[in-house]
Amino acid sequence: MKKIAIIFTMMLFVFGEELQVIESLKVPYQLGDDAITTFKGLKTPKSIILIIADGTGIGQYTLSYYANNNFAPSRFDHVGLVVTHPDDGLKKVTDSASSGTAMATGAKTYNGAISVDKEGNAIKTAMEIAKEFNYSTGVIATSTVTHATPASFIAHIDSRSKEGEIARQMARSNTDLIFGGGEKYWTDDVISILNEHNGQLIREIDAPYDPSKRVVGLFDHGALNPHTEERNPTTTQMAKRALDIFDRKAKGFFLMIEESQIDWGGHSNNADYIRGEMESLNNLVNMCLNYQEKHKDVLVVLTSDHECGGVSIHDAENGNLDVRYTSDYHSANFVPIFATGPGAEFFDAMIDNTTIGKQLIKYIKND
Ligand SMILES: [Zn+2]
Repeated sequence: MKKIAIIFTMMLFVFGEELQVIESLKVPYQLGDDAITTFKGLKTPKSIILIIADGTGIGQYTLSYYANNNFAPSRFDHVGLVVTHPDDGLKKVTDSASSGTAMATGAKTYNGAISVDKEGNAIKTAMEIAKEFNYSTGVIATSTVTHATPASFIAHIDSRSKEGEIARQMARSNTDLIFGGGEKYWTDDVISILNEHNGQLIREIDAPYDPSKRVVGLFDHGALNPHTEERNPTTTQMAKRALDIFDRKAKGFFLMIEESQIDWGGHSNNADYIRGEMESLNNLVNMCLNYQEKHKDVLVVLTSDHECGGVSIHDAENGNLDVRYTSDYHSANFVPIFATGPGAEFFDAMIDNTTIGKQLIKYIKND
């Protein structure tokens, strides 16, 4: 009898309950930019570091707060909340492509879309605009570099699954630096395209290269190892090398760094995976904020594309954590945004994910 009661209770956690929503609310309501109090005298940053913790909501941050010996996000001095739904019929739950596009371009699109609208038209990204304004640009990921989040900043394609074509577009792009995994998608013909477009390939994080050319660093066949399985290079090592490179340029930079695998810990309902990836995020955030302390004109923003797993934290025996999940997929839960540096106070707000993209583009254009 007790066993049946436990199973029944567990089913409630797993399956949830259907809530009827009135017809007029079924298409998600989008927060407008007019919802934000206009800040007077916002400073424009010289450079921007955007950290995207994929699949990381309040549950993952809470897990990290109690299970890791450090909580780097508390060093940010501005905090807000982000609404993440796609423009995809009645759906409230986004994927990384749609939400990545929102942050990269300021526009909402359907799940699976990489910086294209519903008709398949390319939407210009903040990274492309930054290039027009002579910034150095870069993306870093611990997944394949052609995965949805980094792809959204560089490529334009109707489906995130076309990673071979995304590699081709990245090779042809003018992005100065691309670091991460996924060498399997960079076939010989793609590398030829890269070489023809003033680029070069490195396979070791500290490999010497020609600084007058674009650089693509591919450090694994597929995704990089999880943080707890000796990721090499670490997320922080990749970010540090990028900052060392950009530091030598007079003009500012726009760098997007994705801690990609927190999301995969959520998908696999694996608390230890989440804990490890959040530890990697702590190291990354600490390094970026230490850099910001010495370069006060840099804006550092940390946010997520969506939550994953519906993670919540409860007490277990002996001070351990009871980590529970409502799903093995993304949830529609709001995610936090943290910021420090010139223009950071803009993010002291509840905003739509497209507002992040729009504001970063404003900063890049200095208008
Ligand atoms: Zn995911």
